[in-house]
This record gives sequence, C-alpha cells and structure tokens, in this order.
Amino acid sequence: MYTGTARTEFKMPTLHYPTGALSPIISQATIEYHYGKHLQTYINNLNRLVENTDFEGLTLREIVEQAPHGPLFNNAGQVLNHSLYFEQFTPSAPANNTPKGNLKEYISFDFGNFDTLKSKMEDAAASLFGSGWVWLAQEESGKLAVISCHNGDTPMRHRMTPLYGIDVWEHAYYLDYQNRRAEHVKKLWDIIDWEVIESRLQI
Ligand code: MN
Repeated sequence: MYTGTARTEFKMPTLHYPTGALSPIISQATIEYHYGKHLQTYINNLNRLVENTDFEGLTLREIVEQAPHGPLFNNAGQVLNHSLYFEQFTPSAPANNTPKGNLKEYISFDFGNFDTLKSKMEDAAASLFGSGWVWLAQEESGKLAVISCHNGDTPMRHRMTPLYGIDVWEHAYYLDYQNRRAEHVKKLWDIIDWEVIESRLQI
C-alpha cells in the first residue's frame, strides 16, 4: 500500500575516470572490484537495511551520525567513506603533486610541513590492525588531525570533516600489492586530486 513516505534510494557515486586510469598505482582490476563490487554491495545493503526503519528518508550524513553501532551504521559509513575515496583521485595529477593554497597553509600550521603529514598518515596506516581507514580530517575548531577509524567508522561520526582517506582494507590493495600495504599507501600520494581535498576544507 502507498503510504506517502519518501523512499530514499542511495545510488552509486559517479566514477570520474575510466577504471584503468589510475594504473599501475591502482589497477583496473582493483577499481572494478572495489568500486564495482564492494561499494555496490555496501549501497545495496544500506538500501535494504534502512527500509522500514526510523532512518528511512534521512540523509547519508544523518544516518552516519545517528545510527546505533551495527550493520546499518557499518554500511552507511562505508558508503560515505568510499564515495569520498573514489572522488579524491585523478589520473592527471602533476609530477610534483602537493597541496596548494589554503590547504597547504592549514597543513603547515598544524603539522609543520607536508612531509610530516605524509609520515604521520603512513605510520598510522601501517599500524592500524585489521580493516579500517586513516583520515586527514578537520576538527570543528578548524584544526587538522590524522585519525584512524576501524572497519566502517568515519570522521563524521566524531564530528569531524573527512578530507583525505586511505582505505586500508585488504580489498583496496591486495590484488596489486598483496601484503605490501605500506608500499601501496606511499604510491597513493601521486594520484591525489588536491583540489578535491581542498574543496572539503571548512574555512
Ligand atoms: Mn574499500
């Protein structure tokens, strides 16, 4: 029966580059599985789990902020994390790919310099046990921080703005790097779209 309730259907975010465009840093096969299979599954699960709950009709952000820990939160968090993740890379990054403008100033103010930020994120990614994410995120005060999130957790759950996220679930790198997570993380610096990251900054 028609109830008049708005039915929210979460959809796949657009991939702004061909699946093979980030190769060899991220191979076509990895994008096809990661974007095409893993993210699609999180979206399907989210749509199924939110149906006929108090969270139906809420935005993704509201679900991530309010859902109790469990399958709905896990899948909503992963949809949010992956939407940001696939958007933040570009096949046409410049040779010396570093933050510019306001973002560069924020990084210098909070970390000293870009190399220190890189080291902090690489160390956090190497030491995160199991599955999860390492984020450059922004606190409500405006300050930048590097935080580690387990499984589908996300900075938005902690009232922080996600800026750049490293997915350290094995599905993000295992086809290309096997157990060499650290090598994968280091190579990602070359394909970051820093204009996208800067656009997420709350100024
Ligand atoms: Mn992933």
